[in-house]
Amino acid sequence: MLSVKLPRLLRAHQVPKVFHEDSILDGYRHPQSSAFSCILSVFQLTNETLNIWTHFLPTWYFLWKLIALVYILDVFTEPYLWPLIVYLLSCCIYPFTSSCAHTFSSMSPRARHICFFFDYGALSLYSLGSAIAYSTYSVPDKLVSSMFHSCYVPIAVCNTVVCTGLSCYSRLGLPFLQYNPEINKRIPEIEHPRFSKVLRVLAFAFPYLFDNIPIFYRIFLCSGEGCTDNETNALHYRHIMLAFLTAFLFVMHLPERLAPGCFDYVGHSHQLFHMCAVIGTHFQMEAVIMDMNLRHTWLMSNAPPVTFAWTIGAALVCITLSLLLILIFSLPHFWSPFSSTNDKTT
Ligand SMILES: [Zn+2]
Repeated sequence: MLSVKLPRLLRAHQVPKVFHEDSILDGYRHPQSSAFSCILSVFQLTNETLNIWTHFLPTWYFLWKLIALVYILDVFTEPYLWPLIVYLLSCCIYPFTSSCAHTFSSMSPRARHICFFFDYGALSLYSLGSAIAYSTYSVPDKLVSSMFHSCYVPIAVCNTVVCTGLSCYSRLGLPFLQYNPEINKRIPEIEHPRFSKVLRVLAFAFPYLFDNIPIFYRIFLCSGEGCTDNETNALHYRHIMLAFLTAFLFVMHLPERLAPGCFDYVGHSHQLFHMCAVIGTHFQMEAVIMDMNLRHTWLMSNAPPVTFAWTIGAALVCITLSLLLILIFSLPHFWSPFSSTNDKTT
């Protein structure tokens, strides 16, 4: 009979510092795991298992939504639907990339950094997908064709690139200049975890806040005619609440900070953060689809036409530039003097 021996799990002091998670004391995988044992660990209860599943399963739910819409709607010839497709693709990519990052992050310190560079790039793409969908379907009537509306997606593209760079920078500093063989002890994530975290929160929060300006305006500030006060607002409101809860969990590390070691496997903040993020995305998706349907006629006659350049084109530019940034931040890890010491960093 075929039997597979599951690898022994380690305590925090048995793995290099780069693998440590705040207030998580146990359940770490071996820091030099093979790709096979990383895949195997998906079925073993470690401190990463639920991080993997809480993003892997929603990936299939979002993909099912995307495939169902592609099947029902004429997405290839109807430009009005392109923003929806870009947005739905970004909703599939970010949880999938995250679940892969959590799965393979225990192969080595180098693999861990590169995995999370991809995770940050995918989150930035999701932020652009949200901006493109909001720009087409959810911007309130009053702001349609305004100066803000015409600058909104171009600024979102810039934010995406800047924020991918900033979040990658938050792990190790500038490639070649700050992490190299001579000064690799100055890795900011180890030496200055708080500064590193602040930069990363900023890199995620800033594009989110910018993308939501039209929604915040529509729900909280707008009065009188042209505020697009329809039944979708309740869904936007739920999404905003969940987004703030997601940020709160990411920053506060609750509940594990109150009882270190008690939530190592189940219930720690990163799992809750993942769950709030996907539930928030679900409400956002419902809101975007409802706005798209309810406002179709009005938008077709009043909004600027949807173009390839500012939907699929913008997403392709963002993907290309983010991949380029990830490559630049990853290259020093393969620079032989650095990579040989980096994988032993403690
Ligand atoms: Zn995660």
